Amino acid sequence: MNLPLPLPDSLTEGRRPKLLIVDDQPINIQVLYQLFSKDHQVFMATNGKQALALCASQQPDLVLLDVVMPDMDGYEVCALLKTDPLTREIPVIFVTANTDEASEEHGLDVGAVDFISKPVNPKIVRARVATHITLKLQSDLLRSWAYIDGLTGVNNRRYFDEQLAVEWARAERSKTGLSALMIDVDFFKRYNDRYGHQMGDECLRRVATAIKASLRRPADQIARYGGEEFVCLLPDTELEGAMLVAEQIRLQVERLQIAHADSDTSACVTISIGGCTKSANQEGLPAALIQQADAQLYTAKRNGRNRICSAGLTQVS
Ligand code: GH3
Ligand code: MG
Ligand code: MG
Repeated sequence: MNLPLPLPDSLTEGRRPKLLIVDDQPINIQVLYQLFSKDHQVFMATNGKQALALCASQQPDLVLLDVVMPDMDGYEVCALLKTDPLTREIPVIFVTANTDEASEEHGLDVGAVDFISKPVNPKIVRARVATHITLKLQSDLLRSWAYIDGLTGVNNRRYFDEQLAVEWARAERSKTGLSALMIDVDFFKRYNDRYGHQMGDECLRRVATAIKASLRRPADQIARYGGEEFVCLLPDTELEGAMLVAEQIRLQVERLQIAHADSDTSACVTISIGGCTKSANQEGLPAALIQQADAQLYTAKRNGRNRICSAGLTQVS
């Protein structure tokens, strides 16, 4: 059997795929490490807890997972990975000396994509790893296409809904704040009516670009939420910080100086923003964060537009 070819750059974007090797015996890790360290970024864990933490923080493209380990076995690790929105897309291959059918069935039941027997055959393990990493990167790429808004090039509502679940889980785990900003263009119907739909589209593209340029941290995200509405998700951000970002966004859009003769608020295109924050340690539901940011947006509209209103998340019992 030929050794698998390197992955095309179009899939890896020039980076080495990330591989996590989990085994309670360091010698087993070493064998696999030597096979993969040249063309993969390899992470290692000797127990289930470490493995889960590395999956959450490093987002490996594949996990090679031992079954028999003290404390938490591989099945349990895999099942936990598959229930967490943050890690459920990471493929898992079990590497184990238990090669009976029942073990393999159980492994597939808890969500593994493949099963490799120990001691490993280098060619087989390399071929299977290459196959599953290729599939993972291809599905990442397809997912990313399905997540882009065609008009503005920013992420779409579908992506946002998934990211909200992911970031909510991360905020709960890391006990950090999470803020959402709902953004809506002021008097945009009148803009279309006066300047035409094509100019309207161009305006939305420029507004999206201005919002994106106002976000500074790599984890901050923007999505097009609907027609002329955008939403930003700001992880690890309390209300005060979110307000600074919101003001930056409002200013950047104002600075575009897109003429809007029919706006009651200004001579140029402006936006209104509603903010809401789930502070560190606070409980609640992701949907409430968005609903309450939206309610604040309405208040901003009522109070005159081209402004920001915000509040901390309140529990709805
Ligand atoms: P407000 O200040 O209260 O937000 O008023 P508004 O006119 O912006 O709000 P309204 O919801 O009444 O109108 C939104 C308009 O946005 C109506 C719709 O035609 C326009 N719109 C939605 N999606 C698009 C799009 O993709 N392209 C263009 N050009 N216009 C869009
Ligand atoms: Mg609207
Ligand atoms: Mg509007």
